[in-house]
Amino acid sequence: MHIRDIFAANPTTFSFEFFPPKTDEAAEALFAHIRDLETLKPAFVSVTYGAGGSTRERTHNLVVRIKETTTLDPVPHLTCVCHAQQDIAAILERYAAHNVSNILALGGDPPAGTAHDRTKDAFQHAADLVRFIRAVKNHPDARGFGVGVAGFPEGHPATPNRALEMDYLKAKVDAGADYIVTQLFFDNHDFYDFRERCEIAGIKVPIIAGVMPVTSLGTYKRIPELALGARYPAKLQRAISRANGDAESVKRVGIHWATEQCRDLLDNHVRGIHFYTLNHSHATREIYKTLGMKA
Ligand SMILES: Cc1cc2nc3c(=O)[nH]c(=O)nc-3n(C[C@H](O)[C@H](O)[C@H](O)COP(=O)(O)OP(=O)(O)OC[C@H]3O[C@@H](n4cnc5c(N)ncnc54)[C@H](O)[C@@H]3O)c2cc1C
Repeated sequence: MHIRDIFAANPTTFSFEFFPPKTDEAAEALFAHIRDLETLKPAFVSVTYGAGGSTRERTHNLVVRIKETTTLDPVPHLTCVCHAQQDIAAILERYAAHNVSNILALGGDPPAGTAHDRTKDAFQHAADLVRFIRAVKNHPDARGFGVGVAGFPEGHPATPNRALEMDYLKAKVDAGADYIVTQLFFDNHDFYDFRERCEIAGIKVPIIAGVMPVTSLGTYKRIPELALGARYPAKLQRAISRANGDAESVKRVGIHWATEQCRDLLDNHVRGIHFYTLNHSHATREIYKTLGMKA
């Protein structure tokens, strides 16, 4: 369903994010979690896009499998890095042929450990990719693809000038983005302030809040690396350190924190919540239950 129709039908959207697993075994395990989460009837699910060739094909395969074998509505991520214009055109053509309705358009992170020359990419910034996607006419929906873009409540490290960063975000929306999904954050004040700054900048599209529960010490250590710009508030750090390395306690603290974030976001009329699931269903299901939502 086109994202504009999704927003029209849902006062608050709930959505889940997956990444394409590297092996066929992991893909099967993920699919069991996807089946489990399908019963929660999210507005859409999204699938991330990596820098390497085989990872990229796995994104496509997972998106098509979700589209063809579940009731879920998959939104593929697509990035500017390491792509010529004809690559992007071919990818979009394949998604249109499978009646995929929406794309999340991103700058993308260059491949780890290689010196990639960004000037060789067809599109330098996500705004250019948004414009290109919106120009696609050959799609079953006469409006073409719906397009989402990323926002960073705590700022993106590549643009320390926060005023300039809002100009760049506005440029993505002006290029044709229908909605913004934010980087994960752990302090809702950062999101509310970001939402207000968007309003001041004249950004009127729906803003979906990205939430990721800490479910293990491993993810707690990895998140600041994966989600550039995100920071742990002192209160969360203290609670995690009280758990003293006990896996079950860390998980309980993390899920509790994320649940309270979601409750507060809903009380403050968030337009949508996007769960970074890390390919598991348990934490999202627990949060749904504690929020009093049908799970
Ligand atoms: C919800 C979400 C999903 C993500 N999914 C993926 C994924 O699947 N795969 C992946 O590789 N990465 C993903 N990322 C990470 C993201 O691609 C990187 O953080 C990337 O560095 C920024 O992407 P962007 O779309 O904001 O890029 P852009 O909008 O291009 O911005 C990148 C940087 O350039 C600056 N900028 C923008 N326009 C201009 C301009 N005209 N002139 C100068 N500077 C400019 C911005 O302020 C920002 O600092 C995701 C991030 C989020 C929040």
